[in-house]
Amino acid sequence: GQGHARSLSSDTERTLVAVKPDGVQRRLIGEVIKRFEQRGFRLVGLKMLQASDKLLAQHYVSLQRKPFYSSLLYYMTSGPIVAMVWEGHNVVRSSRMLVGNTDPAEAAPGTIRGDFSVHISRNVVHASDSVEGAEREISLWFHRSELIDWEGWDHKNIYHL
Ligand code: UDP
Repeated sequence: GQGHARSLSSDTERTLVAVKPDGVQRRLIGEVIKRFEQRGFRLVGLKMLQASDKLLAQHYVSLQRKPFYSSLLYYMTSGPIVAMVWEGHNVVRSSRMLVGNTDPAEAAPGTIRGDFSVHISRNVVHASDSVEGAEREISLWFHRSELIDWEGWDHKNIYHL
């Protein structure tokens, strides 16, 4: 409910972004963070973790019957993940655009997947695909107390008030 992916005002929408194990192995954590920061989004939660099968089964519940499901879980548990919550106006939709198409072959250059990956099974990064999905995923990956409310000094330069 309220508190995890609040959207009380238009600039407090939140989404879950995660650097997947291949992205961590390839030292792309900073690159991913840089792109969200420079766009003007606000980081409100961040942690590194070894994801459990249980967490991933909940995260990818809608993909349970897909042929690639077991290899997806193997990949996602193969090493640490860096999970983040980013906040800002339209951040769910904008994050999907920053990340690029699920299949890197279809991802535009300039997107994270389009710049750093070639195969759909090693696509570096996750971003929630809807506001409702973001709310569900954030509550799976983060405890409420791990999310920090803050307003940047440059808020007035990024948002027309
Ligand atoms: N995936 C895969 N093979 C496929 C489709 C998806 O390995 O044919 C993996 C890929 O890592 C993808 C994840 O499953 O990012 C989740 O798939 P989804 O369709 O939800 O794409 P996303 O929301 O991550 O772009």
